[in-house]
Amino acid sequence: MSDISSILPSGSPPDFSSLAEIANVQDCFQCQKCSAGCPVAFAMDYKPNQVIQMVSLGMKDRLLACNTIWICASCYTCSTRCPNEIDIAGVMDWLRRTALKENVPVAEKGVSFFHAAFLDSVRTHGRVHELSMMAHYKMKTRRYFDDMKLGWRMFTRGKLRIFPSNIKRKKEVAGLFTGPGP
Ligand code: SF4
Ligand code: SF4
Repeated sequence: MSDISSILPSGSPPDFSSLAEIANVQDCFQCQKCSAGCPVAFAMDYKPNQVIQMVSLGMKDRLLACNTIWICASCYTCSTRCPNEIDIAGVMDWLRRTALKENVPVAEKGVSFFHAAFLDSVRTHGRVHELSMMAHYKMKTRRYFDDMKLGWRMFTRGKLRIFPSNIKRKKEVAGLFTGPGP
């Protein structure tokens, strides 16, 4: 499988043409196995096979602005199904990071708020504390009363802890966040 991680943007501006080359998108024969297995393809502007085709056509701006890259759940089903070993999930990750780096408005704001709340909770506690993560998320989205019934059901069944429990080596987890950003 192509090593997309080696071309993830770091300090220098991302080179879109090298993405197409390193991901071997020219090998794609549009069999659509990636899209057929994607659990969230129904909600995407462009299906995974279309994303690969758009990369090979150099349609960077449309890719960075579409909702697909934020809907993608990084489950890697597409990458494992591809008969040509194209790392579609890695391409999605590259596009997300590049969109952030180039300050392209996020097409799915709720998703980016959720990512931020999730990662903040992991950085603070070493693991996710669902209650404070959801509070953080709702403050950002201002959708305070969405999912109240679901939240109450989870609480009454003991699925939401009131107080966070930190892991012993949470400093080591926090250290993971100090590396090169997107
Ligand atoms: S599974 Fe692979 S070859 Fe088939 S459409 Fe998707 S990226 Fe192309
Ligand atoms: S990694 Fe993203 S694009 Fe690929 S199957 Fe999972 S959700 Fe779909």
